[in-house]
Amino acid sequence: MFKKQTLIVWLTLVAITVMPFSALAQTQIKYHSNKYSVQDDIKLGRQAAQEAESQFPLLRDETVRSYVEGVGRRLVAAIPSEFQHPEFQYYFKVVNARDINAFALPGGPMYVNRGMIEAARSEGEMAGVMAHEISHVALRHGTAQASKGQKYSILGGIAGIAGTILGGPGVGQLAQAPFAVYLLKFSREYETEADILGAQIMARAGYDPRDLANMFQTIERQGGGGGGFLSDHPSASDRYARINQEAQMLRVNNSGYRDSRDFARIQERLRGYGSAPTMAEIQRSGQRYPQGEQTGNYPDNNYPNNPPSGRVSYPSNRYQSVTIFNGGVNVSVPSNWRQVNEGNSVWFVPEGAYGQYNGQAVYTHGASFGVGQTNSRNLQGATQELINSFAQGNNNLRTSGGYQRSSLSGRTALVTTLTNVNEATGRPEIIRLITTQLRNGQLFYMVAVAPQNERGYDTAFDQIMRSIRIND
Ligand SMILES: [Zn+2]
Repeated sequence: MFKKQTLIVWLTLVAITVMPFSALAQTQIKYHSNKYSVQDDIKLGRQAAQEAESQFPLLRDETVRSYVEGVGRRLVAAIPSEFQHPEFQYYFKVVNARDINAFALPGGPMYVNRGMIEAARSEGEMAGVMAHEISHVALRHGTAQASKGQKYSILGGIAGIAGTILGGPGVGQLAQAPFAVYLLKFSREYETEADILGAQIMARAGYDPRDLANMFQTIERQGGGGGGFLSDHPSASDRYARINQEAQMLRVNNSGYRDSRDFARIQERLRGYGSAPTMAEIQRSGQRYPQGEQTGNYPDNNYPNNPPSGRVSYPSNRYQSVTIFNGGVNVSVPSNWRQVNEGNSVWFVPEGAYGQYNGQAVYTHGASFGVGQTNSRNLQGATQELINSFAQGNNNLRTSGGYQRSSLSGRTALVTTLTNVNEATGRPEIIRLITTQLRNGQLFYMVAVAPQNERGYDTAFDQIMRSIRIND
């Protein structure tokens, strides 16, 4: 008797407490069916990014670019886990064009027009446009739309060619399609989803999601011209209303992030450049913007034969978890470091710490991970082989002290310290190498490099090492 009564009371309580929450739940977004793989998104985006960068003039201003990248990183980190694809490489570049626009490509490349940054009334409004575009990428809208066999119209951003390029059987074919670029025209449903997920990402990242709605008013006040961002359907006023409705159900995460004065400083800096050309003017001028030599090291074909400056920001105290080697390794790295794939290894580096020198990739600060096949069956022998391979063609590399026993992801590891003189900067540097063996006998290693007189990196490197989880 007693039990039954308690149960009834309990059920009543549950009903009372649960209802208000469910009534306030944020809108659930789901993936659309997609016959392409995540890798297809990445391949497509790379192709399109190369094409885009051969046609759009990028603003060569590292201060502006890294500021936009910082906002982008914060948003990407706030993508709900079910829409995160560790394989995607989000990156952010600024196009020197006046039109209020931005677009993102499958797999993560994103281009923000200078005009959009100048038009926004706050960092939040700029972030709103970026969160919307990031949402299209995270939801894999490009390939989802293609999967439906619908006409996937590419509004040729510059060349003005509208064509149907997707719908063929494979990405190889897509990649060869002679398309001009890239302002993917999505359906009304997809635009609404990107607005809603964009608002959710904004709130999670610490931005007021209503700023995404406000940006539509800003665009309209400036005479429309949102191009790919402000599509004809749904209308700007519908979108404004829908985003504000969603915003009422969202709690803005205000831990950590504070809106800074950076935005005003960046706008001021942009005004100093005078007026940017419009997309139409760029098209009429017929000017193509060569990418320079291709290094093949995507996404760094923007930095051909540019040595690293070696002037970098201090590692962020915030860390982001990344998965590398097809899920084989999890590691946390400072959130202001970006991933650079270099042959068979993966680097995480701050801006300014990498580039090309005498035809070789050079890094001044950062950590890299690799897996190597060696002839030696024991850890020390294998490590020595690896060091020998690093030393080939580098007369300045020296080991300093012997091997130190350590542990990595619960297994025995060796730590070796080396000294070197950086090829590009000429500065002495310290390299820490940590090695361990995988179950299949291969050698897994992490290389951590920083200039000798910048010892503050030890803390970051220790934290990265401790975070490594190997799943082999
Ligand atoms: Zn959109």
